[in-house]
Amino acid sequence: MRLDRPVVFGNWKMNGLRAEGLALAGALAERAVRLTGTLGIFPPFTLIHAVAQRVKDTAILVGGQDCHERASGAFTGCVSAPMLADAGAKAVILGHSERRHGFGETDALIRAKFRAARAAGLLVVLCIGETEAEYLAGERRSRLVAQLAGSLPEGIGPEGLVVAYEPVWAIGTGRTPSSDEIRAIHGELRALLAKRIVGGEAVPLLYGGSVKPENAAEIMALSDVDGVLVGGASLDARSFWSIYRAGGGA
Ligand code: PEP
Repeated sequence: MRLDRPVVFGNWKMNGLRAEGLALAGALAERAVRLTGTLGIFPPFTLIHAVAQRVKDTAILVGGQDCHERASGAFTGCVSAPMLADAGAKAVILGHSERRHGFGETDALIRAKFRAARAAGLLVVLCIGETEAEYLAGERRSRLVAQLAGSLPEGIGPEGLVVAYEPVWAIGTGRTPSSDEIRAIHGELRALLAKRIVGGEAVPLLYGGSVKPENAAEIMALSDVDGVLVGGASLDARSFWSIYRAGGGA
C-alpha cells in the first residue's frame, strides 16, 4: 500500500453511533475523492463496515483500533484481523496507550497481534510512547527502544508498517513535547528502524498526542515527521481536514 505524505490518521476511539459516524465519514468523503497524501479513519468495530461502504469511492483508508492475535476461536467479545479485513478495513492500530495501560497489553501480545494483522493483509499502525513518569525519570529513549524491540516481529519488512510516537502524557491532555523534542525523537526512531528492519528508514513515522489544527503545520514540518495520528480533533470533519491540509495535503 502506497502511503503518500502527509499521512494523517484519525482514531475515533469509542465514539460514534451509526448516524454520527456516517455523517462524519460523509463529510470527509466529500472532500477526499482524490488525495495527494494519505487520510485514514479508525472507527469503532461496529461502524467499520458502514463507514467503509460510505467512503468506498474515495481515497480514504478505513481501519480498526485493535484486533485479536488469533484468527478465530472461543474468544468471547473479541474481533480478529480477518474479520476486520472482511468488514472493509485495510489497517489496524496496535499498541495504543489506552490498550497498553487500560487493558494491560504487553509488547509480546502486541507482537502476536502484529503477526495476525499482517497475515490478514492489514497495514499496522504501531503505537509506542513513554508515560509521564518515564519521561520525568529520563527513561524515554530506553522505553521506546524496548517497545520497538518487543512489539516488532523478527524478519518483517518496512511495507505494511507505520510507527506512531505517542507520548502517553500528551494524549488528550492538550500538552505536547516541544518541536525540538519531537524532531530529535523521530530522528532516533528512524535510525532505530533502519537498524532493525532492512529498508526500515522508509517506514512512515507519525506523531500523536494533542494534535489540533493550530499546531499541526509546525509538527508536520519537522524532519522525520511523516504525518500525525489524531484522536479528539478527528471527530470533527473540519478540524481533521484542516490538520490534513496543514500537513500539505490536498
Ligand atoms: C490518540 O488517542 O491516539 C490521540 C493522539 O489522542 P488526542 O489527539 O486526543 O491526544
